Amino acid sequence: MSHPTSDIIVVGGGIIGASTAFNLAKLGAKKVALLERGAINSGGTAKSCAIVRTHYSIKANLVHAVESLKIFANFAEAVGGSAGFHRTGYLILGPEEHREPMLRVFRTQNEYGIDTRVLTPAEARDLHPLVQVDDVGVIGYDSLAGYCDPHLVTTSFANRARELGVAIYTDTPVTGLRFQGDLKILATPRGEFASPVVILATGPWTHTFEPMLGVKFPFVISKHKVITLRIDRPYDPHWPIVKDLTTPDKLYFRPETGGVVLIGTGDHGDPIEDPDTLTDEVDMAHVERIAGLIAHRMPAFANAGYTAGWTGPYDITPDWNPLVGPVPGCEGVYVATGFSGHGFKLAPTIGEGLARLVLDLPPRVPIDMYDMRRFEAGTPLHGAYGIGSIS
Ligand SMILES: Cc1cc2nc3c(=O)[nH]c(=O)nc-3n(C[C@H](O)[C@H](O)[C@H](O)COP(=O)(O)OP(=O)(O)OC[C@H]3O[C@@H](n4cnc5c(N)ncnc54)[C@H](O)[C@@H]3O)c2cc1C
Repeated sequence: MSHPTSDIIVVGGGIIGASTAFNLAKLGAKKVALLERGAINSGGTAKSCAIVRTHYSIKANLVHAVESLKIFANFAEAVGGSAGFHRTGYLILGPEEHREPMLRVFRTQNEYGIDTRVLTPAEARDLHPLVQVDDVGVIGYDSLAGYCDPHLVTTSFANRARELGVAIYTDTPVTGLRFQGDLKILATPRGEFASPVVILATGPWTHTFEPMLGVKFPFVISKHKVITLRIDRPYDPHWPIVKDLTTPDKLYFRPETGGVVLIGTGDHGDPIEDPDTLTDEVDMAHVERIAGLIAHRMPAFANAGYTAGWTGPYDITPDWNPLVGPVPGCEGVYVATGFSGHGFKLAPTIGEGLARLVLDLPPRVPIDMYDMRRFEAGTPLHGAYGIGSIS
């Protein structure tokens, strides 16, 4: 069975694909289809901690995060539906050598209207009474940051896209892609879909398209573990998110529903080849090590109980920044992948930027710096905190 030819097909219904489909429809594109192999939000986005903060030393990331945060914070009006956004603020704990880069980031954030500053230990404890900062060189604060609900955000983007005319096909894995003149023919168990423009928003699964396109996408996949811990009193939902750059794991933690604290890492994680092999099993050695680091940062957690854990895939590029734009040598094929553990907070404006690129509209927030050809050109994006998801 062949479906009517589309103008644009988005493959992948995570936050990036859903945001792109929504933005295409909002900008007036007709005959847009989104093909998702499972349900909307059944990939990496479903495992996300969904922290949205603007502290980035790479200006492009900072600007995307600033503009995207405005959308998360005003989601009902900007998109429709709810983002489940909680504004908590964000504490960044760094070694002394991070003071200068942090101040530089603060200056840029301030230019973009973000209230950020260096705090004294007493000010930090006023915001988060459980955190001890005796061994911390510099404490930064971003008052506008918070976190969202990844399911609400992604399904809201998809629902709104559908209302604006996008045809959404779930349980529709793309198993083949071939070129026929200007058209790309996508094979699926529901028959063939054809379009002159295809956008691959397939996250860590994007490697499966390499043999079809004859292109290598420069990213590796790794497994990241998230755990939640509980003590004898509820973890206050208003306490700020904490990023602890003094730990090798670049640990972060935030309040989670149920009075627990949720803890993730911004490091390399454990390498895996195939995201489909990922299980939610978290080994006790990891739980114990992270619980030890948390007990150091929050002594009240010395006897914390382990409540839950899960894992999710990071798609990590050589410079820990996304691959967004045209696929070289494949006219009409675009990619948005390799978000390296920080794609959630960038998704609203990445989707918009990609939609504008495909529709030949001038960019509002430029995305050209994320073109995958930057590696061949020797112009990777490097941040001030070294490699990692806060670059
Ligand atoms: C544990 C963890 C915590 C994180 N925390 C944060 C955070 O706090 N803040 C932040 O900004 N970012 C965070 N991230 C990163 C962020 O969540 C991701 O960068 C983002 O969700 C990636 O979205 P995506 O749409 O590219 O990928 P995905 O959500 O993986 O979507 C890709 C979709 O493509 C579909 N697909 C794949 N192949 C095919 C095919 N052949 N045919 C059809 N469909 C296909 C998949 O089923 C999937 O739904 C975190 C990530 C993890 C794993």
